[in-house]
Amino acid sequence: MTMEAPSAATAAAGPVTASTKLTCCYCGVGCGVIVESDGTRITDVRGDPEHPANFGRLCTKGSTLLLTAQPALQQQVRALHPEVRPHRDAARQRVSWDEALDSVARKFISTVREHGPDSVAFYVSGQLLTEDYYVFNKLAKGLVGTNNIDTNSRLCMSSAVAGYKQTLGADAPPNCYEDIDEAELIFIVGSNMAYAHPVLYRRLEDARKRNPELKVIVADPRRTDTARDADLFLPILPGTDVALFHGMLHICLWEDLIDPAYIEAHTEGFAELKRTLRDFTPQYVAQTCGIREDQLVQAARWFGASKASLSLYCQGLNQSSSGTAKNASLINLHLATGQIGKPGAGPFSLTGQPNAMGGREVGGLANLLSAHRDLANPVHRAEVAKLWGVESVPDKPGKTAVEMFEAVRTGEIKVVWIVCTNPAQSLPDQRMVREALRNAEMVIVQDCCRSTVTADYADVLLPATTWAEKDGTVTNSERRISRVLPVLPPLGEALHDWQIAVDFAQRYERLSGSQSGTLFPYRIAEEVWNEHRGTTRGRDLDITGLSWATLEQKGPQQWPFPEGATAGRKRLYEDGVFPTASGKARFANVPYRPVAEPADARFPFSLTTGRLRDQWHGMSRTGMVAQLYAHAPEPSIAMSEADMARRFLRNGDLVHVTSRRGSQIFPVSGSDEMRSGQAFIGMHWGEEYLSGRGREGGGTHGVNAMTSPALDPVSKQPELKHAAVKILKAELPWHFLVFGWVDEARALSLQTRLRPEMRRFAYASCTLFGRERTGVLFRAADDYAAPAELIARIEADFGIEGAAVLRYDDARRGNSRRIVLADGKLSAVSLAGDVSAEHWLKDYLENAIPVASLGRMLLMPSAQAPKGFKPRGKVVCNCFNVAESDILTSLAAGPAGVSPEAALAELTQKLRCGSNCGSCVPELRKIILSKNSTSASPALHEG
Ligand code: SF4
Repeated sequence: MTMEAPSAATAAAGPVTASTKLTCCYCGVGCGVIVESDGTRITDVRGDPEHPANFGRLCTKGSTLLLTAQPALQQQVRALHPEVRPHRDAARQRVSWDEALDSVARKFISTVREHGPDSVAFYVSGQLLTEDYYVFNKLAKGLVGTNNIDTNSRLCMSSAVAGYKQTLGADAPPNCYEDIDEAELIFIVGSNMAYAHPVLYRRLEDARKRNPELKVIVADPRRTDTARDADLFLPILPGTDVALFHGMLHICLWEDLIDPAYIEAHTEGFAELKRTLRDFTPQYVAQTCGIREDQLVQAARWFGASKASLSLYCQGLNQSSSGTAKNASLINLHLATGQIGKPGAGPFSLTGQPNAMGGREVGGLANLLSAHRDLANPVHRAEVAKLWGVESVPDKPGKTAVEMFEAVRTGEIKVVWIVCTNPAQSLPDQRMVREALRNAEMVIVQDCCRSTVTADYADVLLPATTWAEKDGTVTNSERRISRVLPVLPPLGEALHDWQIAVDFAQRYERLSGSQSGTLFPYRIAEEVWNEHRGTTRGRDLDITGLSWATLEQKGPQQWPFPEGATAGRKRLYEDGVFPTASGKARFANVPYRPVAEPADARFPFSLTTGRLRDQWHGMSRTGMVAQLYAHAPEPSIAMSEADMARRFLRNGDLVHVTSRRGSQIFPVSGSDEMRSGQAFIGMHWGEEYLSGRGREGGGTHGVNAMTSPALDPVSKQPELKHAAVKILKAELPWHFLVFGWVDEARALSLQTRLRPEMRRFAYASCTLFGRERTGVLFRAADDYAAPAELIARIEADFGIEGAAVLRYDDARRGNSRRIVLADGKLSAVSLAGDVSAEHWLKDYLENAIPVASLGRMLLMPSAQAPKGFKPRGKVVCNCFNVAESDILTSLAAGPAGVSPEAALAELTQKLRCGSNCGSCVPELRKIILSKNSTSASPALHEG
């Protein structure tokens, strides 16, 4: 192993006992956390009161980071040492770093020699730190000579990047979080901010409390908790956002709500856009978007007349075959009304991932170069080649995420190196992705985790460090760079992502003889960052005035921060000068185009995917924590009650969800968030948590079996927010269910072990439950009873074996029940055939209710619950374990006729729900309003 000495900070990680500041590793809000460690384990994680992104607040995900870091859990899922598959059909074997990286370097060199540099590719991640990203980008474009490097940020932010560049001239969100406090009108579009960016949503709630004049408009196909809280909700049809924005601007023009002086002085291209806008009459737009005309007019008036209009938007705009046009047409609206470059105003794209911004800064995408340079620009290519000290940077555009895997599938790309991401869960059209991973000559997976589905395909597994072990920087949605410090030493033989790339690069240089010296001389992460800083000189994101010392002494800083500056710039374009050739912003004259795959008679539903409140991405981290399942315990598809009634579906029934690309069975649930003709599935549910036999017996692939690979023509971002599907009842008469407490130190291993068993059934899911203890729940359904040996094997995993098991069998009906008791309480339960006793047995087990008084009832054929049994229901407040039934009981006992806000205050005081992270507050409001629909709050009406 030829690694250089670790950085000073890394070296110091072992015995650290003091508090260390870093950031939450989940979303782009970029909350600061303070981590306490005894040097070997983390003992506390709390919000950093001084971090300007959150001032101490954390959401449910951030506030459970401590639980995810427990050694008992980490040991079960982490990749601890390099592994290599000696040949395709063999199992991977543990090897040294030298062997692993030599084998990867030799394969890269031979493939590039034989097929050219574009026969290899890198697929990286918005979870990486900026330093990791920088080195991989330089490795691909500067050393190997291919632009085939793309990132999972392509699935997340590339339309926002393209939209900003097309209109404002650079990929720079112009706003800061303080603008939420200063706005008079907030337009949330394509974002369930209450779930996706909860800490910012708390800030918005505070702003509304302080300023009763502040209005909130939400446009979204789903009536989410964010939409429910709005003053005006526009339930637009999927993909119609461009029509909405054009329509709003048409009305602003007609009603003299535009800012001609701003348009004249600071923009160009308005005359052409005006011609397009003519057709977007209120009547046409209302019909196209499926909304009321008066609501459309109201939205336009509020937006145009407000002193400060701020748009907050995310994947609803980006994950679309017209994502760039959606972003650009929303920015048009801001430019035409002068709602940009002043406090409380502007188009503010919320970043999904923790460091998607950092990746954009270093040009870690197939079409970008360092420091916001464009690959297509020969001057930019020459600048970067000079900065890196290489002859040239290749001019051929690299393959973007979906294109890359399609090229792997066809054999055009032969070797793919996947870093810190799980494409076998997150990319659309999983059948294509799986074929690609099977066809590749070599799949290298570099990850902290060995339990992802993608890791199953790895020929080479390279263990990387993870949150609390890493050393570097990240940038959040408001362009704020934070230092991320290591708290723990790397687990096992894990190395930092940048270190692995540097070691590979040095081997590649040596073995291929491609360089006399090295392009990768870095010994510590700070040296990488310093080089990155140098590439930003004179660019829009110039950070030449910053250093790691400054970040550590003064705290997180926004860019730009050029040499000589004493602070970063809060807000961009306050002078009305834009980074374009003319200095003026450009209106984008974009047409409205409907979704790429409209619903039709064969596939009549529009399926959208999105975030659940307490889970993150593919759940490789949040999925480790049992209590984070409490809010959404199992995979499901949400439909409108009317659509369910028309199809004779009841809650919990299984349905086949089928698109032109694939199919997956889900339990269905009725939801008042959905319009007729629409359906929703949490984006997190991959094959790790649900699957089934599938048509050819090769298994089904979770939520992205059905999603669409249709791309935006500019940003190449796939349309994950819409796929045309059919939903048909799955007639699976035989059911099987096992649940029980499992030692925390083996619960995750058990989940992984059960993954192949899930493919033995037509449908199966495997999730966690519990709070102080960890429970595992395995659910399956099929056309016929599973073989007894399969059932016995799964039951044995839950400790359901031996003489102590209470048994009931009805061979004639094919029903069985198995129960294991511990200390007079249920410890594990198995139900086969008739599983309808689940509802009370699970409640008894989960809430540790003594069962001695039930006697023979535990084994009676009847599924009826014991007399007086009241189900606890869904947990709404995860911080204080408050369930829906607790809330309803408390409301029923409270005084009648109080306002919703007073009822909320009473609940918070009595049950503490909503008083910690606040993530449940929108749902508490919803429960209060549905309980007492007559007490409508002025702050909660729909306009
Ligand atoms: Fe983490 Fe939640 Fe903050 Fe996002 S909002 S950074 S998930 S604590």
